[in-house]
This record gives sequence, C-alpha cells and structure tokens, in this order.
Amino acid sequence: MIFLDNASTTKIYDEALKEYNEQSVNNFYNASALYKSGSDVLKQLNKARANLIKLLGGSTIDNLIFTSGATEANNMAVNGSIRKNCGKLVFSYAEHPAIFNVAKNLQNQGYNVEFVDLTKDGVVDEEDFKQKIKGASFISVMHVCNETGAVNDIKRLVRIAKTENKDVIFHSDGVQAFGKIAVNVKDLGVDLYTISAHKIHGPKGVGALYVKKGINLKPSVFGGGQEFGLRSGTENTCGILAFNVAAQKIVENQKINFSCVTKLKEEFLHELTNNFDVIINSTNACSPYIISFAVLKVKAETILHMAEEQGVLISNGSACSSKHTDNRILSAMGIDPNTIASSVRVSFSEFNTTNEVVTAAKVIKETCTRYIKILK
Ligand code: PLP
Repeated sequence: MIFLDNASTTKIYDEALKEYNEQSVNNFYNASALYKSGSDVLKQLNKARANLIKLLGGSTIDNLIFTSGATEANNMAVNGSIRKNCGKLVFSYAEHPAIFNVAKNLQNQGYNVEFVDLTKDGVVDEEDFKQKIKGASFISVMHVCNETGAVNDIKRLVRIAKTENKDVIFHSDGVQAFGKIAVNVKDLGVDLYTISAHKIHGPKGVGALYVKKGINLKPSVFGGGQEFGLRSGTENTCGILAFNVAAQKIVENQKINFSCVTKLKEEFLHELTNNFDVIINSTNACSPYIISFAVLKVKAETILHMAEEQGVLISNGSACSSKHTDNRILSAMGIDPNTIASSVRVSFSEFNTTNEVVTAAKVIKETCTRYIKILK
C-alpha cells in the first residue's frame, strides 16, 4: 500500500511505540497514586509536559494540558475561554469541525459568533478579519489548513488582534503545523495552541492544549482534579510519554523532513501534471505536506476508490468530514461546485519515497484517463 493520507493520521515511530509498550508493561502506575511508583510516573509526565512546552517554543511558566486528542483540546480552548456575556467570538471559516462545530453550537445557544472569510488562496481574509474582530473576546484561527495546506500568518493576525484589544484570547489549532513547519508559540504570540500526537507519528487518543501563563480556563471535564483541575480523568501516561518521544524526534528533524517532503510534492506534481489536466487548489505557499487537486469529470470518491484498487490511499478531504459531499472550505475559496466535487487530498510524510509518489501520480493519471475515455 502507498499511504498518502498522512493529514488524517500517521504511522507511529518505532521509538514512540517502544516507549508506549515499555510504559504499559513496566511503568503502568497511576500518576495520582501516593506510592513512589505513582509519583515517579507523575514526575515523568511533568517532564514530558515541560519538554513539549519547550518544543513548542513556550516559557517554563506556561502550561500544557493533556487531552484525548486535538478535538478535545480545541473544545477546551473555546469552551474554557468563554464566559457568560463575554464579547464576540470570532473563528476563521476554514476551521476543522472540532472548532467549527463548537462555534456553531455556541451560536445556536445565542452567543455572538462571527466567521472570517477566506481568500481564494484559503487563508483568512485580513480586511474581513480586521472588521470582524472589533469587540471580540476570543479568536480562533488555524495555523495550517488540514484540507488545503494553506498557512495562516498567525503572528501577523495576533498582532492585529492584540492591537485592537490587548485582552483578547487568541487560539490557534496547530495540528497540521507542529513538527511540520517551524512553530514557536512565543514568537507567534498565541495564548492557546492545540497539538495532536497521531498526526506526528505518535499514538492515537493523545493531544494537548498549550496555555500561556495568565490565561485562565474553565474546567472542561469534572472529576478527580487531574491536569490542574481542568481536565479530570486518569492521565493516559503511556500515550503521553510516547507523544513526547514522537514530538522530540519530529521537531529535531523538522527542517530535513520539510525539504524531503517539499521534494516529494514537486515530484508528485511533476508526474501528475505531465500531459494531464488537473486543477490544483493548493497554492505554492501552502504547506508541502498537503495538496488538494481536482480531476474534472471524475468525482472525488471515484478517484479515491480507483486509486485504492491500485494500492494508493488518498482522501477526499478531511477524514472527519469525508462523509459530507459539500466542502465548506473549498466553497469559501470561491472554487466552483464541479471542481469541488472532483477534489481530492494527497498528504505526505517523511516515510514516503520518490518511487511511491511517482507511482501514485501515475495511478491517478492512468485510472482517471481511462475513466474519462469510457465516459465519452
Ligand atoms: N484539527 C485539525 C486541523 C485536524 O486536522 C484534526 C484531525 O483531522 C483535528 C483537529 C482533530 O484531531 P484529533 O484526531 O486528535 O482529535
């Protein structure tokens, strides 16, 4: 199988799996237990917390709350920040459902919620952003879009937002950015930042929310008071420690992986566009890890299944919304419905090879050409 759906999940690193297994077998104690084996696990957990904050570029006084994944961390960022009668809540229109649907839910409850338009390149429209953030108490803009790879200039948006209102809380969903492009939360200026383990070759079911010093969140899960009382429940210590191992490895190799994946993207596109008509939805400025493109006259699902028959796994968009036929993000970029219906997403990891991406491009090209011929 050639796996080109790395934005949906990734293969776990051997080192992370080894850590997970070792912790599960030899160090499985509850981090809240009062005996030494328990407090030793707690120490390791806090060491992993400190290391992840460092890898994100945060300060030692900042915090990081472990969760069951980015979906929970995103929910915590929004629901933990808002208060009764707080001001406007502003979201980019490209947010992952783990933010977008939280925002819609709050809108249905009567909160003042606004969505910022996208440009044709899939990033936040700065003029619309400037207008909509007036009176905002909370803003969430994703760093890298999971469907197109579009990269928002978070540093610039934070500066604009904090100039308008220095107390506004700025959250960014960094799931498709952390470990893949350079991330430094201090430099970006964000208050809250979401990450997920399984997108960076860690285990599934683990994520975290970076919380800048001074940001007071409301608890999201009540119980035994773990994770500073914000997210109760026995910590997934084995997963968290494996997450830390994966994060350390991917951040250390971020630059080299970026060059390798950039080359893979070029090789893929070179083969795909050679004597074949495709519409590329992702711009050159997008993250090299993700490409969205369309083969007109062939439905996305057909492309996906024809590729799968030849051993190539790709996606028709976000795994979380793959059952939906409309595409909110591509529509907001002004892409026409026919192109949207034929749009698929290919996403790489450093495990992919030139041979794999060239084979995949050939498979898509040949199967679609045959299909279009039959249609005529
Ligand atoms: N945010 C983004 C940008 C994502 O791509 C995803 C996963 O597709 C999520 C959030 C949800 O992550 P998790 O699977 O860890 O809940």
